[in-house]
Amino acid sequence: MKYSQFNSIIPYNNQFALYNAFEDKVIFLENDLKELLTAGKREGIDELEHIHPAFYKYLSENKFLVDNNVDEVDKVREVARKVDEQTSMFQLTINPTMNCNFKCWYCYEDHIKASRLKSSMVIKVNKFITKKLQDEFIKYFHVGFFGGEPLLYFKRNVIPIIDHLAAESKAFGKEFGINFTSNGYLVNQDFVDYFHSKDLTCNLQITLDGYREEHDKVRFVSKTKGSYFEIVNNIKLLIRNGFHVRLRINYTSENLKDTFKIIDDFSDVDLKYIKRNLIVDYHRVWQDDAVDDLDTVLNENMEIIKAKGFNVTGTFSANNVINSCYADKRNSAVINYNGDLYKCTARDFSSESRNGFIDSEGELIWDDGYVEKRMKSKLHNKPCLSCRIMPLCNGGCSQHAMENLDNEEGYCVYAFDETQKDKVIYAKVTDILKTA
Ligand code: SF4
Ligand code: SF4
Repeated sequence: MKYSQFNSIIPYNNQFALYNAFEDKVIFLENDLKELLTAGKREGIDELEHIHPAFYKYLSENKFLVDNNVDEVDKVREVARKVDEQTSMFQLTINPTMNCNFKCWYCYEDHIKASRLKSSMVIKVNKFITKKLQDEFIKYFHVGFFGGEPLLYFKRNVIPIIDHLAAESKAFGKEFGINFTSNGYLVNQDFVDYFHSKDLTCNLQITLDGYREEHDKVRFVSKTKGSYFEIVNNIKLLIRNGFHVRLRINYTSENLKDTFKIIDDFSDVDLKYIKRNLIVDYHRVWQDDAVDDLDTVLNENMEIIKAKGFNVTGTFSANNVINSCYADKRNSAVINYNGDLYKCTARDFSSESRNGFIDSEGELIWDDGYVEKRMKSKLHNKPCLSCRIMPLCNGGCSQHAMENLDNEEGYCVYAFDETQKDKVIYAKVTDILKTA
């Protein structure tokens, strides 16, 4: 037997947690057992069988020790392949416009004022939806509206697509889902009424850039008018009406401290709606990303929010193999308002960087070999192959992998910092204990 590559031992509440990232399993060890295991790892794990047979047997049965001939990296590749190559679902992302009603300093998108889906483009997109729904393998079709701000031209550009999706899904007996990545400012009663009148619902991801003043410094309508209160009120309207909202808190070292106060602004909402329909999701703004101790502040904020009965998740809760990004999946596409095709939504949407286009018959015409290249890009990065958290991290995503294809030294999304990896493990162990 060998000691699994995916084991980690971290201090946890006065004990040691032995966690395996492939099995997503943890056991807790007293110091003497941890010392025994560390010595066994150093001097040959078979020694442990003689010294402490019961412990050795337990570790083997629970897959902290694996057969010598098991290729553990291959096992991860196999799981990733199954997830990314599944054929029963299609995830389509549409940018109805690249225009936005805010200008946030970190936004990577260029706001193109006149950009919006023309009706001829809506027809093409709808043709594509119909074709996919006719595909016998597709059981579920998901449409995400991104942007720009996708609610800017909701009535003219978004409703015709949702109406078509709902009607065709019904006709072909398929399931479907809808979500919006929105700044939330334009949500209103009409939005809610439209979905209710059609007996539909959707999920929304809405962002706050910190608590009141901090948010208003970044996302404002005019120099004297912020947007915090409108957005919070709109989220309340949504969750009281049965819409699921992922409240993404974009944090930086500047704005993180007071973010726990955001939930006090939800104190007039019945906790049953909060528990059922709201999840608070912390993300560090990538331009502010540094290896530092900000996660101590993050954890304090998350604990306060959790204690008040809210669902909360954060940057270190990685599960990127099983929950890989849509861009990692073969059955996914991003269609820009002008018909350009992409896989990833986190890079620029210029026509020079497009990866294909939608034709007049609603066919997706990808650049030659592009999808194949992307599908094969993941889990080849050298440092990932010997990494203990690879089953959680996935080497980031296919975009990271694509951007590092020629990087012979390799990259690490946690900057090769073992302490950061321990934080990922810590979050996992905490998750396991929470659901135990
Ligand atoms: S950067 Fe990675 S995780 Fe983000 S959208 Fe692109 S592929 Fe997905
Ligand atoms: S990117 Fe870094 S943390 Fe992620 S699997 Fe690769 S080496 Fe490990």
